[in-house]
Amino acid sequence: MPPRLPESSIVLEEKIGDMSYPELVTYDISADGSTRKDLLHMQDGAQIETVLLRYRKRYSVCVSTQVGCACGCRFCATGQMGFTRQLSAEEMLTQVLHFRSILAAHDADISNVVFMGMGEPLLNEDQTLLAVEQLVDPRGLGLAPGRITLSSVGIASGIRRLADRHSRLPIKLAVSLHAATEELRRRLMPVTATHTLESLFEALGDYTERTRRRVLFEWIMIRGVNDTAEQADALGYRLQSLPSHVNLIQLNPTPGYTAVPSLPETVAAFAATLDRYAIPHTMRQQKGGEISAGCGQLSARHASCRSDHTC
Ligand code: SF4
Repeated sequence: MPPRLPESSIVLEEKIGDMSYPELVTYDISADGSTRKDLLHMQDGAQIETVLLRYRKRYSVCVSTQVGCACGCRFCATGQMGFTRQLSAEEMLTQVLHFRSILAAHDADISNVVFMGMGEPLLNEDQTLLAVEQLVDPRGLGLAPGRITLSSVGIASGIRRLADRHSRLPIKLAVSLHAATEELRRRLMPVTATHTLESLFEALGDYTERTRRRVLFEWIMIRGVNDTAEQADALGYRLQSLPSHVNLIQLNPTPGYTAVPSLPETVAAFAATLDRYAIPHTMRQQKGGEISAGCGQLSARHASCRSDHTC
C-alpha cells in the first residue's frame, strides 16, 4: 500500500491541480544515508534533480527552479548544461511532495525547504515566490518562512524585491559568491558581467538594513583559484560591515571543470583571515560527494550513461 500522505499535502495537491507527479528516473543515496538525490522526469520529458538532506531528525528538500541554468557558472554541472526552461510553482511543489510521500512511510516530514537546486530562483522569481507562498500557507505545509532559504547567484534587482516583501515573507537569503573581485568572479561566474559585484553589494547593504537579517554566503573552495590570501582579504573587507555568515565548501569536481578542491592548510589559512575580520564562518561538510550531489551532476552522469550505454 502506498504511504499515506500527511493531511497538509492534500491542500498542496489541490494547488497542483491535475498536474501529475514527476516520475522517478533514478536516485542515489550517500553512504552515510544523509543525502538522497533523485532525478525526476517531468510531464514534457524534461529532467530535473531534487535532493533530500537529513541532519539529525530534520529533513530539508533542495528544490530546482529551472530546467538547466543560463548563468553558466564554470564549476557547476547545471551551468555546463545550459538553460532549457522555467519550472512552474506547481512543478516546484511536486518536488516537495515527492519527498513528503517517501518520508511519510517513515513517519517523518520535511522541516526546511531550500531553493538551491538547478537554476537561478531570481531569474524565475514570480513562480519561485508563488511556490514559497504556498509552502508557508497554513492550510498547506505551513512552514515557517524562516525555514525557507532562497539561494541566488546575486541578481541585485531581485534581492531588492525580496527586501520589499520581507515583512510579509521573511525567508532567508543565501548568495553564491565564490569570488570577491569583479575580475575573478566574471571568470568563474559569467553572470557577473551583467550583475556586477558592486551592484550586488549595494543591494545587499540595502537588504540587510531593511530586513535586519544577515546573509548567508556560499564559497566553494577551488585550489589556486579563489582560495588565495588576496581573495580571503577581499572577502573579509567586503563583508566587514555586512551582517553575514560564510559557508566554505570544498569543490565537488565535475567533468566539465578540471579544477580541484583546496588543500586543508589553505582552507585553514583562508578561515584564519575571515577570523581576523571577525566574519562568522563554517567549513561545511560536502554532503553526498560520492552521489553526485552537486547540482546537475546526477543528471549529467545519467545523460552520459545513456549516451555511452555503460549503465
Ligand atoms: S551554480 Fe546555480 S546559478 Fe550557477 S550555473 Fe549552477 S545552477 Fe546556475
